[in-house]
Amino acid sequence: MPIHERLESVYAEVLARNPGETEFHQAVREVLESIGPAVGKHPQYADAKIVSRICEPERQIIFRVPWEDDRGEIHINRGFRMEFNSALGPYKGGLRFHPSVYLGIVKFLGFEQIFKNSLTGLPIGGGKGGSDFDPKGKSDREIMRFCQSFMTELHRHIGEYTDVPAGDIGVGSREIGYLFGQYKRITNRYESGVLTGKGLIYGGARVRTEATGYGTAFFVNEMLAARGDSFAGKTAVVSGSGNVAIYAIEKVHQLGGRVVACSDSSGYVVDEKGIDVELLKEIKEVRRERISAYAERVSHARYVAGQQVWDVPCDVAMPCATQNEITGKEAERLVRNGCTVVAEGANMPTTPEGVRLFQDAGVAFGPGKAANAGGVATSALEMQQNASRDSWSFEYSEDRLEDIMRDIHTRCLETADEYGMPGNYVAGANIAAYTRVADAMLALGLI
Ligand code: NDP
Repeated sequence: MPIHERLESVYAEVLARNPGETEFHQAVREVLESIGPAVGKHPQYADAKIVSRICEPERQIIFRVPWEDDRGEIHINRGFRMEFNSALGPYKGGLRFHPSVYLGIVKFLGFEQIFKNSLTGLPIGGGKGGSDFDPKGKSDREIMRFCQSFMTELHRHIGEYTDVPAGDIGVGSREIGYLFGQYKRITNRYESGVLTGKGLIYGGARVRTEATGYGTAFFVNEMLAARGDSFAGKTAVVSGSGNVAIYAIEKVHQLGGRVVACSDSSGYVVDEKGIDVELLKEIKEVRRERISAYAERVSHARYVAGQQVWDVPCDVAMPCATQNEITGKEAERLVRNGCTVVAEGANMPTTPEGVRLFQDAGVAFGPGKAANAGGVATSALEMQQNASRDSWSFEYSEDRLEDIMRDIHTRCLETADEYGMPGNYVAGANIAAYTRVADAMLALGLI
């Protein structure tokens, strides 16, 4: 889709100001392409240069993270925190530890987070952070030392009313524990609301671990229902086998579908009887092994090395690993194999060409900023519980999550209808999210 002519100069400026940050350019372009219809309808946004302001982070923090491995060798990594937009609330968004992390990745994630958080309807702004540190193969002590060094700098920039990080790729409950411990030690404050994704015994919330994956499955359930369909008898393929993937698989099974394949960065496994989630949790969460271990333990399962999971035919595809994992080629294959619903558990896992192919083929396509918003929404519920020193039951929290996902789904479809693009979840999500942030920015004046 072309960018609205009044936004072309904004995009040109983003390219010029942020050279080489291709993932950031991609994320901005996708939003600018779809908010065109809102530009004519709301001239007051243009007068206040809202889009240009949204594309420029409020604050960018880059810092050195020195740490020592178990042999006494010193390593230097780079840490980032992108405090992108706080019109709706404190900056909120995860930390990613992965060797591919650089400014362009953190900016794309922070930018996406503004819109995702807006779409939840909750009072949270957008931010993201991380490091090019690779947790793979590191001992527990090394992970702890890295997290402590990372927080030694990060602590000056965050706080329950300022910026509230959480997990993402490579950052799970173990890392959040070490980060929170160091924050508490340095600040001498037991400030539970400064991080989300915490363990239950020190201020965490029930369902936060499951929330992103469960939320994505709830979103698919709504997409199916909107087409007069359900999960019953449907097969699904999920990429990844981390936090989002595991709980997406678990909820798809509870909703009556069958996930027949999942993956990691080395390959994928197929289990036609349905992935055994308890075994998957043991392999990935407890033993921290590769996905190939699944096929070694399940005689009827098979492992395919070095290939992407999208070769496996399915009704529903749920990319839950990383950005740009479905290009035009994989999208074509999925459509050819009969896939009719795609929902992104990961952030921006589908390239623009892939999205276009799905939409042209009539596949219902749920973008990540809508489909995976359950994680951050439940983080906001964790903040609510921390603020009131309360702890909600699993059932109550899960009901809230399901309601939030249903509301997001409705908001996407109603907005798409209102702007003349029925069934277009990408346009619906972007316009609904954008107008809420824009209205808040107008109300707060030029800041
Ligand atoms: P995890 O680290 O728990 O799991 C990531 C999974 O994706 C692993 O199976 C990993 O395989 C695979 N993966 C990561 N990078 C690559 C790569 N470059 N190529 C192929 N596979 C890869 O992360 P999460 O499950 O938390 O996050 C997954 C996605 O969901 C990310 O896009 C994240 O931004 C998004 N997300 C996460 C939320 C959360 O609450 N955790 C919230 C909203 C979105 P391997 O182990 O081999 O690297």
